[in-house]
Amino acid sequence: MFISKEVRPSATLKFSQKAREKVSRGEVIYSLGLGEPDFNPPLEIIERVYEAAKKGFNKYGNSMGMDSLRSHIAQKLQKENKILCEKDGICITFGAKQALILALMAILHPGDEVINISPCYVSYVPQIKIAEPHAIIKNVDLCRKDFSLDFDAFEAAITRKTKCIILNSPNNPSGKVFTRSEFDRIISLISNREIYLVSDEIYEYLNFGDCAMISPGSYSDVADRVFTINGFSKSFGMTGWRIGYMTVPATQRKNVNTLVQHINTNVTSFIQKGLVGIYDIDRTFLNNYNSHLRKMAGYITNELNAAGLKVAGPQGGLFCFVDISAKGLKSDAFATTLLEEQNVAVTPGIAFGDNWDDYVRISFAGKEEEIVSGIEGIKKFIL
Ligand code: PLP
Repeated sequence: MFISKEVRPSATLKFSQKAREKVSRGEVIYSLGLGEPDFNPPLEIIERVYEAAKKGFNKYGNSMGMDSLRSHIAQKLQKENKILCEKDGICITFGAKQALILALMAILHPGDEVINISPCYVSYVPQIKIAEPHAIIKNVDLCRKDFSLDFDAFEAAITRKTKCIILNSPNNPSGKVFTRSEFDRIISLISNREIYLVSDEIYEYLNFGDCAMISPGSYSDVADRVFTINGFSKSFGMTGWRIGYMTVPATQRKNVNTLVQHINTNVTSFIQKGLVGIYDIDRTFLNNYNSHLRKMAGYITNELNAAGLKVAGPQGGLFCFVDISAKGLKSDAFATTLLEEQNVAVTPGIAFGDNWDDYVRISFAGKEEEIVSGIEGIKKFIL
């Protein structure tokens, strides 16, 4: 298989591997690297999954997903996201990550242009290139001050060859949540063009700032061209379960169905069954977690700004994206030396886009004590 040179090993995983090696030597590591909520899935969901396996949901199933789960998700999307959708337009996938690549595989042809907002989730660029090695990626950088969208650059990137735009709000790694007016402008720029939107909404419920969650699939002008991608990994503490989903535009259902038939057969039956009703459970735990995220985001922003780095306070997601140029090291050297000297694991900005080598990503997904110790280590490192 031809694998483009843009498909590099995941930098986030590389650093967690280094950190694990230190742990195995008995060292204490302050892990501000990976984006994993530190709570377990709600017990009632674990029990439902167990019951489902006992009751015999252990066999092959519909490759697009179990009807009962797809109906439940369609109801959630209609009610909470104002997306007009039906169960047949939902595809259950192995995590949001698989939904992303399936959407790209379904729509991309050689020579198609993909607009990618940078910095971005580490897998977007590799996934575009795996899905279609001859796709052309046009990166549009967020503004450095507050990670707002640079509309001049965005508009300039749109051409007759633009096939799709990948959006991710709340955003990994910047913590930016796009406002209603930003979405209005994005939609107005593409409403008369045949451009797909791939909207990655995996951090939907981890939104602790002032911006309401907006799903571009709710805009009627573009609704039939939006893949709304979401899942349960982050919000329900089940990153290892590997379950997510997407809405699939009617024109792409045949393509996606063919892909999932041959790639997946189906997503784990008893997990799908156990998740029916998940959006109806008590979500107090999410309020508590969002309070923790808000507190930690504020703490990191204040501490690191006072220490001479630059941090635009995140509004959602699990990360601060920190300008480290004051230290005078490129991001890989910064992260490697920080890990060596202070046992603090962060992720180099270069992993999120070529122009972000003077940034590192700091995760505040974990426990307060660990975050505080990690930030103290960073402060010592930069002094
Ligand atoms: N999208 C973004 C922006 C992410 O940050 C991640 C994981 O870190 C994913 C998708 C993958 O989600 P999942 O674990 O559901 O595949």
